[in-house]
Amino acid sequence: MDDRSPITTRTDFDAIVVGAGFAGMFMLHRLRQQGLKVRVFERGSGVGGTWFWNRYPGARCDTESMEYSYQFDDALQQEWNWPERYSAQPDILKYANHVADRYNLRADLQFNTKVLSASFDEARHLWTIATDDGKTATARYFIMATGTLSVANKPKFAGLDSFKGRVFYTSDWPHEGVDFTGRRVALIGTGSSGIQSTPHIAEQASRLTVFQRTPNFSVPARNRPLSDEERNVTKSRYGELRNFTYQQPFATNFHMNDVSALSVSPEERRRVYEERWNQHGGLHFMAAFNDLLFNSEANKTIAEFIVDKIHGIVKDPKKAEILAPKNGVVGCKRLCSDTGYFETFNRDNVDLVDVSQSPIEEVTETGIRVEGDEGIRDFGVDDIVFATGFDAMTGALLGVDIKGRGGQSLRDKWAAGPRTYLGLQTVGFPNLFMVTGPGSPSVLSNMMVSIDQHVNLISDTIRHLESAGIVEIEPQQSAEDAWVSHVNEVADLTVYPTCNSWYLGSNVPGKTRVFMPYIGFNTYVAKCQDVVAKGYEGFVLVPSERKEAATA
Ligand code: NAP
Repeated sequence: MDDRSPITTRTDFDAIVVGAGFAGMFMLHRLRQQGLKVRVFERGSGVGGTWFWNRYPGARCDTESMEYSYQFDDALQQEWNWPERYSAQPDILKYANHVADRYNLRADLQFNTKVLSASFDEARHLWTIATDDGKTATARYFIMATGTLSVANKPKFAGLDSFKGRVFYTSDWPHEGVDFTGRRVALIGTGSSGIQSTPHIAEQASRLTVFQRTPNFSVPARNRPLSDEERNVTKSRYGELRNFTYQQPFATNFHMNDVSALSVSPEERRRVYEERWNQHGGLHFMAAFNDLLFNSEANKTIAEFIVDKIHGIVKDPKKAEILAPKNGVVGCKRLCSDTGYFETFNRDNVDLVDVSQSPIEEVTETGIRVEGDEGIRDFGVDDIVFATGFDAMTGALLGVDIKGRGGQSLRDKWAAGPRTYLGLQTVGFPNLFMVTGPGSPSVLSNMMVSIDQHVNLISDTIRHLESAGIVEIEPQQSAEDAWVSHVNEVADLTVYPTCNSWYLGSNVPGKTRVFMPYIGFNTYVAKCQDVVAKGYEGFVLVPSERKEAATA
């Protein structure tokens, strides 16, 4: 918490930013550099966003450390030394805190403050923001830097309140850590968070029972320490590497093998997959061939390879059968990157329960009850860990009661799914910007690069508005409609819409099924550059009355 005086007057700020994760911190830095008065509200007690909350054992980034970092200041990227190829959560949080201190960001960060609502005053071209400390503040620009995976999906199992043991959520892990020694633990969910935490919990717990609804594809991360030499090589050509990633579809260097999986012999395919499995690891796997995300026949070849691997690793054939996806599409749900996940099921203290056909019925005082063909089965446990994911991309945006022009509610406008122009703005909500909002590459890119691009775009736009005497910016309806169609057309060229995933919102009961991220970071950047070059094509820019009068 900073030591500044609390907000007591209205219209205090040029810009109000919500969230002090990597997006909010950089947004603050950029706007302050432009001379704007900025306040960032953050519900947590510290910086780091998703890395502040997700402190579960084994939490680690699936993008390489030297790429998952800021690029706005060469001095920063030269001085920082990442210890591992893929960073563990504590190292990323350390970095976030270093950045906050290095650029004196805390002076304008207000922690432990949740933004409850925001409404647009059309007459004064201002946003009024209400926070949970009972105060309001106004600003000309309102920027949601609330992240894409920041609101937990918490299944409401009957009886959960009656459970006498401990309950944990991977997305809101106790800061002091959790000791599972001697405990019988249930883990629900086998996405990235469940897959990363399973091996760590299994090492401590007396018994770990994993409840799996959908089998998932996971490949070894091949994480390892980075040597000084490796770091120095990257640092010596950081500029060149950053430029290269800006031109890539996923804003990262996946070492794409630019060949169709179907154009080579089965032996050659196997050789390539083995090489990716043994050496590259992680998300690099999706670049083993250039059509894995576009052609379902090509995708089947990688699916078969991973299924074979699972059967080779997991010794109990029954467990292997449950763990191996059947007719699954690799990458359709985000590919998981693990360290010893499937191997963990060879431990004597680890059980696996398939809840795909017989869902978890209820939580009792002493454990979890599943009812299916085999009748009622009770699993007595001391602790339950929920690794059940997020209300992704829209959860945090709609968590704030945002009212735009004419009092229109964003929740109402987006009831059938998010609608944006470029994932940046939405019609009816002037001067509201979203950093990596739905309709932008966001989660289908290296988030740090997408954040860099969006924050620069938003701050450059604000600079333009200020210098041109523009009081409002908002998309044109036709531009928004065309962009929403385009996002879907691009998605339909790929395998992404073919399964239920959080990219589509289909992991949250009742949420409309709409594909939310834009696929193709490089084409997106080119589109944004073109829009700006054409004088903010697709946006309505409203000049101030004074200027209108002067030019009339
Ligand atoms: P997730 O991928 O959405 O996985 C949630 C899991 O919970 C799924 O297995 C889901 O099953 C299960 N689940 C949800 N509700 C359930 C219910 N009522 N009963 C039984 N099972 C239920 O969430 P996540 O693991 O937190 O990962 C989300 C994203 O965060 C990742 O895709 C990734 O982008 C990011 N992340 C990244 C890293 C990393 O960098 N390595 C680590 C963690 C998270 P279904 O599949 O059947 O819905």
